[in-house]
Order: sequence, then structure tokens, then C-alpha cells
Amino acid sequence: NQGLGSWPARRTRMTPDGVALTYRDDRRTYRELATRVDRLASALRALGARRGDRIAYLGANHPALVETFFAAGALGAVFVPLNTRLAAPELDYVLRDAGAEILLLGEGHDGAGLPGRHIGAGEYEDLVASGDPAPLDEPVAQDDMCLIMYTSGTTGRPKGAVLTHANLIWNTFNLLVDVPFRHDEVTLISAPMFHIAALAQTLVPTVLKGGRVVLEPSFDVGRTFDLVEAERVTVMFGVPAMFTFLAQSDRWPHADLTSLRHLLCGGAPVPEPLIRLYQDRGLTFLQGYGMTETAPGALFLAAEQSIAKAGTAGVPCFFSDVKLVAPDGSPAAPGSPGEVYVQGPNVTPGYWKRPEETAEVLSDDGWFRSGDIGVADEDGYVRISDRIGDMFISGGENVYPAEVESALYSHPAVAEVAVIGVPDDKWGEVGKALVVLRPGTGARADELIAHLYGRLARYKIPKHVEFVPELPRNAAGKLLKTRIRALYGEAGS
Ligand code: ATP
Ligand code: MG
Repeated sequence: NQGLGSWPARRTRMTPDGVALTYRDDRRTYRELATRVDRLASALRALGARRGDRIAYLGANHPALVETFFAAGALGAVFVPLNTRLAAPELDYVLRDAGAEILLLGEGHDGAGLPGRHIGAGEYEDLVASGDPAPLDEPVAQDDMCLIMYTSGTTGRPKGAVLTHANLIWNTFNLLVDVPFRHDEVTLISAPMFHIAALAQTLVPTVLKGGRVVLEPSFDVGRTFDLVEAERVTVMFGVPAMFTFLAQSDRWPHADLTSLRHLLCGGAPVPEPLIRLYQDRGLTFLQGYGMTETAPGALFLAAEQSIAKAGTAGVPCFFSDVKLVAPDGSPAAPGSPGEVYVQGPNVTPGYWKRPEETAEVLSDDGWFRSGDIGVADEDGYVRISDRIGDMFISGGENVYPAEVESALYSHPAVAEVAVIGVPDDKWGEVGKALVVLRPGTGARADELIAHLYGRLARYKIPKHVEFVPELPRNAAGKLLKTRIRALYGEAGS
């Protein structure tokens, strides 16, 4: 078995008594994890699961999710983790789209009305116990499908990106070149593993190296500080919003963060003031840019360059290539924007059962079109400006909301901000900022606008500011710009 399903067993030969997983009061050594994965794989096979079949899991982070991921791999089956925030009709759509035969349910999910053979949380332990602990002897190849992971659905309906074992393995190599995970890593995973980053940037590399995973069902500021201190956490992944919430907490000034070695941050642009805030505590962000379809790493900013090149997402990952393509199809020159394309052994073979959509984004020579805009500097460090669909045009000039948001974040009263383009008689479109103020602070719209003079070109400065109590985000913590445009797309105040 050349796939990830063999990893707990391989690790067990090296570190049998090393702790693989901690979840609340539950602890599992590599030997225990490997045996449970083998039992589960046999039990799922006894239920009829075969190579290539899809096995879905609906639930928050839990050891059962980790075991199902590896057991599916050991069987040669395809793991389909489902986003717990989806509504019943959306889950139904995803399960039917994936054609999942078996659905495992985490605590709090009854799966009522959903297709497939259900295994409830209460049946899970019996299922594991019923399986044969002898490893299955499946000839899994690295090019076999490992995962169908639905994209975040930030820009529309989620699409099932197929990822092979090789895609995940190469992504791990890409990561390990720049982040030297060790055998004694303690990795806190609180970002949901139904998104690629938590699974591929934290779980997989930690298990590869024989470190310990501390699992949390979801992100909570207080629990994060508790666990970092009590477990001496060394690695954490978060989207920028998570790190912002930590820095805004009362615990931040006196929390003991000295155990943290690697803070992996990506999934959305990282505001520069946030980078500085952590820098002042001696904590360096390792920033990355990627997407589900590239498993996910495409660009990476190594620790050595994190200050000099702050605000960029770095250079192409070691075993991958990235190019920026101008609207006319020519290579974008340094300093001018282009669409980000990615090529390499981590790139998806395509969307599940969607040849047309695959052909739109994946060329015959393996270049994947991201739909994001980036600008490279003279040294090739790429700043991700925004998504093509979020950009707007004001007086003939392209405005990238991410840049305006970053400038607004430098105002002390701004807790969260989203910028969108709204119709304007004179300029075609102008910017509108939706701002969540920090508790206990105040700022008027004109003060925020004044703050941007000198920081941004005039045409980029929003003409409208609206204060809102909160901004809609998806489970990955990303701003839902499509929703925000629907809610606040009128010019307004
Ligand atoms: P969908 O494709 O369904 O609309 P999605 O693109 O948000 O959803 P993901 O694959 O989870 O789903 O996210 C990838 C996207 O996240 C990238 O295409 C990019 O827009 C954004 N992104 C990731 N990392 C960064 C980063 N470091 N800086 C800016 N944007 C980023
Ligand atoms: Mg996408």
C-alpha cells in the first residue's frame, strides 16, 4: 500500500508508543491508532466498501474523522469530508454529487433524510471493534484518488476537487522543505478538517513525522490559549481571522506562547498589522497561498523572508510552479497584475464528474487557473491582490478590495472590514467599506476615510462606510463576499 492509509502503521514501526492523537481526555498512541484504522478499514470492507468507493464523514474534528480518513486510504476508497455548516439540501446535493455509499456521522448529526448507509456516532465504537485488526492488503497506488474535497463555496456552489495520494504527499514535501516539522511536534488542529488546510498542512505532516496532534472540535479563543499553555503546542494553522481574534482577546497580553514554533497562516490575505502584532511577541507567521485544488500549497513565504517580504504570500513551493498571466495571455511583468496559475505534482487531476469545469481551469499541460490575481515583485515574491470576481473598477482603475481592507485594518478602531464595489453615477463603481468596530472604541466614517489619505491612491478610497455588527464568514473563516454584496450592495451611507 503506497497511500496515506498505510501511514499510521508505518509510523508505528518507528514510534509505537508515541502519542499520535489527543482529544479532550482521550489519548491514542501510534500503535493504537494503527490498530483502530486497520479494524475500521476491515469493518468498512465488510459493509461492502471497495476500492474507489466514496466514504463520507459529516462532523466536527474528532478522532473518528482522522481514523476514517486513514481507513478509507487503507481500503483504496475515497474520503469525502463534509462541511458541517451546509444546510440539509446542500449536504444532500454534495452526497449525491459524490455518490457516497457510506456516511459516518459525528456527534450531534443525525443525518435525517441524507442518502447512503449511515453509521451514527453511537455505532462507531462497535463498528471499529467488529473489524479485523489484521491490515488489509490493498494495492493502493499513489495516483489513486484519496479525497474528494468540496471547495469552500466562497464564489458559488462547492465543486468536488479530486485529490490523489500523490497530490497530498507532494504537498507535504512542499511544506516540509520550508517548515521543518519534527518528531516532537505538538500540533493543535482546531480549523475544520473538511477544509484542505487543516487536513493537509497540519494532520498529514504531523503524522508523517510522528508528532502529536491535539484535536479540537472547533476554534475557540479561550480553549486555544488553554491548550497552547497546557499542551505546549508547537504548531498551529489558522486563517487570519483566527489569529486576529486571539490578538484581540484579554488573554493575549499575558498568555504564555513560548512553546509555539510554527504559526501557519493562509487561506485569505494576512493583514500586515497582524503580522507586526505577532512579530512583537517573537512569533513569525509562515504564510502560504493555495487552494483546495492544489492540495493546497502553491506559494509559501519561508521564515527567513517573512519580515523582508511581509504582505506577500512568497514564492512557488519547492516542487511546484506558479506563473502570472496578464489579461491578454502574456506573462505579467513584475509590478503588474496577472492571474495566478499553478502547476506541479500537487495539482488536482480535476473536478469530480465535471469534465467541462475541469477543462475551463486545467490546461493539457497541467496549468491550473486559480481565478486569483497576483502581483510579483522584482524578486518573484507574489502579493495576492484579490479574486478576479471581487475586483471592481472605479473611474477606469482596477481596485482590489483586499488592499483597501489591509489599509483599513491599520486603524486601531477597526476589528473587521470588508470592501465591495457599489454602483456610482460618476465613477461607474466606488468602494464601500463594511466595518465592525472594536468593542469599546469609536470612529466616524469620515475619520476612517481620512485615515486612508496618503496610504492609498484616491480612487481606491471607499466613498461609503457602513458600520455593521458582524460580517458573514464561511466555516473556513473567509468573508463571504457574494453574501456581503447581496446584503450591502447598495451605495447607502
Ligand atoms: P470556491 O472555489 O468554492 O469559491 P474557495 O476558493 O474559497 O471556494 P478554497 O479552495 O478553500 O475555496 O480557497 C482557496 C482560495 O482562498 C484561493 O483561491 C484564494 O482566493 C484564497 N486564498 C488562499 N490563500 C490566500 C492568501 N494567502 N492570500 C490571499 N488569498 C488566499
Ligand atoms: Mg476556489
